[in-house]
Amino acid sequence: MTTDSAPVSNFLRTIIDNDLKSGRYQDRHWATPPGTAAARRAGPIDPARIRTRFPPEPNGYLHIGHAKSICLNFGLANDYQGICHLRFDDTNPEKEEDEYVQAIIDMVRWLGFDWTHDGTEHQYFASDYFETLYQFAEALVQAGHAYVDEQSADEMRATRGTLTEPGTHSPWRDRPVAESLALLREMRAGKHPNGRMALRARIDMASPNINLRDPVLYRIRHATHHRTGDAWCIYPMYTWAHPVEDALEGITHSICTLEFEDQRPFYDWILQRLAELGQLAEPLPHQYEFARLNLSYVVTSKRKLRQLVTEGHVNGWDDPRLPTLAGLRRRGYTPGAIRLFCERLGVSKADSRIDYSVLEQALRDDLDPSAARAVAVLDPVKLVITNFPEGQVEPCSAPLNPHAPEAGQRQFPLTRELWIERDDFREEPPKKYFRLFPGNLVRLKYGYVVRCTGCVKNEAGAVTEVHCEYLPDTRSGTPGADSVKVKGAITWVSVAHAVAAEVRLYDRLFREAHPDRGDQDFLQALNPDSCHVVQAWLEPGTQAVPGTTWQFERLGYFVADREDSSADHPVINRAVTLRDTWA
Ligand code: ATP
Ligand code: MG
Repeated sequence: MTTDSAPVSNFLRTIIDNDLKSGRYQDRHWATPPGTAAARRAGPIDPARIRTRFPPEPNGYLHIGHAKSICLNFGLANDYQGICHLRFDDTNPEKEEDEYVQAIIDMVRWLGFDWTHDGTEHQYFASDYFETLYQFAEALVQAGHAYVDEQSADEMRATRGTLTEPGTHSPWRDRPVAESLALLREMRAGKHPNGRMALRARIDMASPNINLRDPVLYRIRHATHHRTGDAWCIYPMYTWAHPVEDALEGITHSICTLEFEDQRPFYDWILQRLAELGQLAEPLPHQYEFARLNLSYVVTSKRKLRQLVTEGHVNGWDDPRLPTLAGLRRRGYTPGAIRLFCERLGVSKADSRIDYSVLEQALRDDLDPSAARAVAVLDPVKLVITNFPEGQVEPCSAPLNPHAPEAGQRQFPLTRELWIERDDFREEPPKKYFRLFPGNLVRLKYGYVVRCTGCVKNEAGAVTEVHCEYLPDTRSGTPGADSVKVKGAITWVSVAHAVAAEVRLYDRLFREAHPDRGDQDFLQALNPDSCHVVQAWLEPGTQAVPGTTWQFERLGYFVADREDSSADHPVINRAVTLRDTWA
């Protein structure tokens, strides 16, 4: 693990270094908008040394796994004077919506990345290429590389063969080109119902790689698309659209997760056929695979996230317990923390699971140097300084941030009655307990040393007040401060001056590290105590402007909730405790 800002090498960097050295991509042309070989050749030499892309499907909200891909693709482009495209892979009309497009744009921007270079916004949609893809499909049919198959989906599955047995040819595989072409046109024109026929590539039904056994290119789907409306009733399969999108956009390094490794031969096959037919410009993009992020104590499949939201196990896509980027942001995660986390993960080809504590530590490390400090009391009990004059207000001060003396000091008053944490007093202290108990000396941070003199209890035996006396010469920052040695220091806020706030103490959403392990129902691993709401007291002057983060001394990092917090009713989320306390 490293926190250096110099990028750590990885296998992708090695590949890019070699490609740049060999000049593999230096003669590429670029066209705006992206296009076929002819369009690209007419454009100038590509000013970008490499091109990568982040290709989300707009069918849900981005999560921490996507952040890894975003940081990787945009990060490599930045480091190598390249350009990273934001491309919406919207080839599935039923599941995609504009709402998701906007949410994805917001989150990639929030992470700190940008896709506008020299005035060109490199934001693309797979649906913008529907016509080009269709023209390419006709070219493939005419060249004998594709045919219209009238088998049903079930028949296609049954004739595909197995890992050990080859598939069998469709009876339509060798139909005349003109017949396939006519049927493809009828498919496009809406003459046939869903599933009646499909366009398949003609490759090799005996290939040991099942993905090469005549994969489907187009299926019929009478459905309304979020951008193209009802213009189309055939939609390209992802595996066919994706390589073509990459090639049209002049992507050099197409980086995806490992589960697409077996698709790479088809990726290459389709691009080579289209290049031979003069449709796509060379050099062609190349696909590289890396291990996806698996994070403990969360689920990141969009389907499962959707289930958590729609069944009401959490309060929306931005619930601070979710690993969605919207949820992490609301929880108090910063873009810097997420980028640092991704940087520390590195890039590898070996699947692994990252412990949630690694993400939490990145947040602490990002916030520690910059977050303003303040005092909060989350589980308050009253402390009365019995020898402190009633009505006296003594100003105290503390650094806004001990790492940044130039940020200055914050001021707050000490008075006779203070709120302290209930846990900072014990009538009968356990071993090594150095805070308040009868007879013990403790420092009120930034104030005086006090001697605990006892407590008041109610009929039920619960402590309602703790009593103490202060030692007048021991004020912090005065020569007498060190005259009395104490082993404990506690935080406090003046009862008369404290700001009331609702504080939401979040814990992990799941009790198990692998909630969706195997076939188990991930819902049964939900942590029933993942959110505790407390009424807390904050240091006077704390302004809970939505999105503000603090370190509450001794407690952790907190953020004013983006949705629910207001001046009249501060609502504050605990982002992370100061230390890893998960047992
Ligand atoms: P899900 O399986 O949750 O639905 P997805 O992979 O289908 O996610 P896409 O919108 O297609 O979601 O993903 C966009 C990009 O983000 C893809 O390039 C994908 O490889 C990458 N990505 C998704 N999840 C992860 C992950 N856990 N780790 C790294 N990259 C990921
Ligand atoms: Mg996907």
